[in-house]
Amino acid sequence: PARPTARGRLFFANPGPTNIPDSVLLATARASMDFNDPNFLAVYDACVAGLKKVLKTEQHIFFYTASGHGAWEASLVNTLSPGDLVLIPETGYFSDSWAKMCGTLGFEVQMVAADWRRGCDIAAIEAALAADTQHRIKAVCAVHNETAAGTRLPIEQIRAAMDRVNHPALLMADTISSLGSYDFRMDEWGVDVCVGGSQKGLMLPTGFSFNGASEKALAAHRASTHPRHYFDWTEMLGRRHKSFVGTVPITLFYGLQESLRLMLEEEGLENVFARHARLAAGVRAAVQHWSGNNGPQLFCQNPERWSDSVTAILMPEGHNADDLRRVALERFNVSLGGGLGKLGGRVFRIGHLGDLNEPMVIGALGAVEMAMEIAGVPHAKGGVQVALEVYAKSA
Ligand code: PLP
Repeated sequence: PARPTARGRLFFANPGPTNIPDSVLLATARASMDFNDPNFLAVYDACVAGLKKVLKTEQHIFFYTASGHGAWEASLVNTLSPGDLVLIPETGYFSDSWAKMCGTLGFEVQMVAADWRRGCDIAAIEAALAADTQHRIKAVCAVHNETAAGTRLPIEQIRAAMDRVNHPALLMADTISSLGSYDFRMDEWGVDVCVGGSQKGLMLPTGFSFNGASEKALAAHRASTHPRHYFDWTEMLGRRHKSFVGTVPITLFYGLQESLRLMLEEEGLENVFARHARLAAGVRAAVQHWSGNNGPQLFCQNPERWSDSVTAILMPEGHNADDLRRVALERFNVSLGGGLGKLGGRVFRIGHLGDLNEPMVIGALGAVEMAMEIAGVPHAKGGVQVALEVYAKSA
């Protein structure tokens, strides 16, 4: 329905999908073309090379016409066999969802339990691996950025823990909401399978995901007996694109070519990361200020695990996050992320990833501060002012 207040731009502060730059939108406005046409193949090959730079890998990339869930499923069914044991560090809704998928697909799951507000302890992951003297664990599936909790899990530390105990399991990393927002290094961190998606840091429409696969993952694939068809890597390796079972979504590659140009050539990857770090710092400073007077607070209580792509904010007792989100959307045309799973109603999220700058984030923070006033949510006034100061200093 039309909203009477919906004039001006929708300020989109969800943690995925994210804002799509105009030039990316325009790049996707293409007529159909044969996906084996040499003109398209040149774009395709350039996209593969560019995405490898973002993933910091020389390994093979398999693409899927599917949202992130597809790449999650592909990572499992291509490298494991029915009944294999998978170790999953608990981070929040998305680690639990990946674990649920493992169970449905016939794998056994061992969780490393953790407090979602503090993040999973690396020592606990190491202890679980050390206790597995028979090497029953075939893969460690870790969510680099837990989008639901606004936390980061240091994949490089998990690799170091695996190496310390000489554990041969595959290391799989979900980089869906970290890639293109903060550093991810597939090869340096010894990631065997990474899972990425289009609709977050890559600033593209939803419906496009991928896996990077190391030589070790490809060897595991050859030994894997799990049934699969649409996601079968062997099937894909026999095709020109070495990806996809079915029609290639060519317009998404025109979009990807442009988003890679923006990230790698126009802004530069290190500058992309620095911008995300600045935007995140301003949001956190505002929330920490609001938390005075029993106001909303940062969900993540461990500064070492703060995410630079999304901040989850815990409401004070007795106040519903969805009521606040409704006021922000209906009165100010600002879209905020909701709480997922057991955090529904208790948490709202500000996504600060993708095509964003300081004034856009200030707009979202301003709407949150006004919405808190309107909805009667206690808070210390002036969080926006604090963010302004952080941004002025870091500009
Ligand atoms: N993993 C993470 C960390 C996510 O944030 C998401 C989606 O937000 C997913 C997996 C699932 O991806 P999709 O919703 O694209 O299927």
